[in-house]
Amino acid sequence: AKNAGRNQYCFYQESVGQQTQNELKLEQALRQALQQQHLQVFYQPKVCLKTQQLTGLEALVRWQHREHGFISPASFIPLAEKLGLISLLSDQVLAQVCRDIRDYKLALPVAVNISAMQLLEPTFSQRLQHQLQQYQIAPKCIELELTESCLIPEHADNTLMLLTNLRQQGFRLSIDDFGTGYSSLSYLRRLPIDCLKIDRSFVDELPDNSEDAQIAQAIIAMAKALGLDVIAEGVEHPQQQAFLLKAGCSMAQGYLYAPALPIAELNSQLAKA
Ligand code: C2E
Ligand code: CA
Ligand code: CA
Ligand code: CA
Repeated sequence: AKNAGRNQYCFYQESVGQQTQNELKLEQALRQALQQQHLQVFYQPKVCLKTQQLTGLEALVRWQHREHGFISPASFIPLAEKLGLISLLSDQVLAQVCRDIRDYKLALPVAVNISAMQLLEPTFSQRLQHQLQQYQIAPKCIELELTESCLIPEHADNTLMLLTNLRQQGFRLSIDDFGTGYSSLSYLRRLPIDCLKIDRSFVDELPDNSEDAQIAQAIIAMAKALGLDVIAEGVEHPQQQAFLLKAGCSMAQGYLYAPALPIAELNSQLAKA
């Protein structure tokens, strides 16, 4: 037993070392990508479930590394947060979004993802305003997607003030991955938001999984009761679409319609909108 324990210990040490090395490499690569402004922004359509018409876009950051290929934001966003690079990254994403709105004369709101750490920065609002001014973009062109982790109870009052202010400026606000966090309904009711996004985990197994079906229906009913828009993310199959439409969901997003694409490739769809 002792031996086994020691072996395990060795193995553990080695794998941690390896992991640290990989992380260091990724860290270096990320710093370089930011320095050289190599990150790109792709856009995924949001559509009206009834008419299938485009109602907006979500900006999703993309990193194509020369050696390692495509690296998922699910891995480098948390790293950027950990390294204190998230504001720099977000500024680059927003600048690209503003340029695309200007250059392609986008008339529909473009959603950007805001991480909790970003929102807590005292300069968040100023930076946002400053960037929009620089590109002459109106706040109503931008939707801010906040995850429930942005709504930490300890900061509830500050967050409420900040969001109220942003909404007054004209930004559209939505709660991303709704249903996966812990925001209380009474807090939600006070928040000046426009839209709830039903998390993909509740959409994946629609319509067969009856628990998910009931959760999705409950979120849709609640959004309606609060006078909010509701959008389902991760819609891949016509059966999911049919269920959501029948349940009264207003919008959808997912591979059934389109993945995130470079703005130039969305041009034909935009022309029709
Ligand atoms: P999210 O905001 O929940 O974005 C939705 C994710 O689901 C995206 O993954 C999108 O490509 C993917 N997706 C869309 N439709 C489907 C579908 O039908 N099926 C499946 N299986 N997946 C679908 P992505 O682009 O890898 O982004 C992952 C997460 O990284 C995002 O989750 C978001 O939290 C974060 N993220 C992406 N871009 C940014 C950014 O610019 N800033 C910040 N702070 N976070 C970002
Ligand atoms: Ca999102
Ligand atoms: Ca989401
Ligand atoms: Ca999600």
